[in-house]
Amino acid sequence: MLVEPQEATQEMLKDVHTEEYLLSVNESGTRLAEITEISAIALLPNSIVQHRLNRPMRVHVAGTILAVGMALQWGWSINLGGGMHHASYDRGGGWCVYDDWTLALRKLRRETGGAIRKAMLIDLDVHQGNGHARDKLHFKDEDLYILDLYNADLWPWDTAAKAATNCDLPMRTGTGDEEYLAMLDKGLHTAFSEFTPDIVLYNAGTDILIGDPLGRCRVSPDAVAKRDEMVFQAAHDAGVPICMALSGGYAKDSAGVISKCIEHVVQKFGLIQPSSKV
Ligand SMILES: [Zn+2]
Repeated sequence: MLVEPQEATQEMLKDVHTEEYLLSVNESGTRLAEITEISAIALLPNSIVQHRLNRPMRVHVAGTILAVGMALQWGWSINLGGGMHHASYDRGGGWCVYDDWTLALRKLRRETGGAIRKAMLIDLDVHQGNGHARDKLHFKDEDLYILDLYNADLWPWDTAAKAATNCDLPMRTGTGDEEYLAMLDKGLHTAFSEFTPDIVLYNAGTDILIGDPLGRCRVSPDAVAKRDEMVFQAAHDAGVPICMALSGGYAKDSAGVISKCIEHVVQKFGLIQPSSKV
């Protein structure tokens, strides 16, 4: 089933983000120019910046919120966007304006009356996921377990955020299929032996792909599909729903690879039994 999200309201965003931060991204393009590292954005009329940049970011958030709810209903779900893992309650960065994962998780916990509380966030975007990690510290969220497998040679080098990561798996520039999948296999085994989640949140960045201009890793399209399968299989074996968001991916063939990976997941997992916790 394909569902189109609307956009997250300011009231929804306030659940995680400070009013001061929200004002800064709403009142002009200056803050958004910093977050996107495109200085010309600050020179555009704010009405254009809001419509063409800030509003789509709020749709990404709404997509993750919607997808997390659908994962409970259908066993698994994918937001064709989202995964803005560099944003936290009072700051954005790396093209990420809002922390969609934390927003979605907090809402989900409230709406399920706490039946869904413990979440495992598996972050496989090539960059360290510092935004949700910082928010885990900010909200003192002991019920969020974070596994992060990333290229440690790349920005953001956020040592403060690392304190929130339970399973920290730094890799190096040039990491290829065999090493990457072995690290993931070990990480998944560790994570599921240390923590029993009610839901898995999967940040499935494809900037690990060979040829990605930002990622600097050498993971093949087939290994990306295998990676997704391993994560879905781990959630399936644990008997919990999984929600995936696309996060980063900057290679020319990223969209095609994502499409094939999703087809593979659909073929492999079909419809899983809905969660009894809905
Ligand atoms: Zn990334």
